[in-house]
Amino acid sequence: MHSNSIRKLIDCFRDLPGVGEKSAERFVYSMLNFEPDRLDNFANCIVNVKNNVKKCQKCGNFTENDELCDICSNTLRNDSVIFVVEKPKDVILFEKVGNYDGVYHVLNGLISPLEGINPDDINLQSLVDRIKNGNVKEVIIALKPSLEGETTTQYIRKIIEQYNVRVSRIATGIPMGTDIEYIDPMTLEMAFEERKYIS
Ligand code: ZN
Repeated sequence: MHSNSIRKLIDCFRDLPGVGEKSAERFVYSMLNFEPDRLDNFANCIVNVKNNVKKCQKCGNFTENDELCDICSNTLRNDSVIFVVEKPKDVILFEKVGNYDGVYHVLNGLISPLEGINPDDINLQSLVDRIKNGNVKEVIIALKPSLEGETTTQYIRKIIEQYNVRVSRIATGIPMGTDIEYIDPMTLEMAFEERKYIS
């Protein structure tokens, strides 16, 4: 039997994605071997994230700034193009690609009628407000190819069609190096629909 505090910390780790009882136990027991300073640092890092990280008031991405994130407040970025993504981690991914100089909008969720997640539950109205009030010329939708991603993409397309804004979506298709026989039907269908003429 674990002691009470150890049990509680194991349960905390088990809340993390992909961490089961065995891994959580391993984490906690290795932490118990940390020097006190190292354990303090670990605990402080969690408290700092809780206290300092907030959402950008414009795009919904994480930031430690008071109002706008570093991308929204960067005057060198082109704010007439908005890249719409599901979560803050996606921004980091696309920033790593490195050739995009527009701005982002983070929905922090996807519409999912099955799970009772409605348009009002995600960061969508502020996207419409940005389009209404800004000089937005293009919206690029980069949501995952799933029922929820598709529902959300179509919903966005519909609510912004009244504005003079071009809407595109990133292509979905077959990952590099994957044999076609292992691709699920929905991905194959989308790859087929979004085929590119090469001659
Ligand atoms: Zn921002």
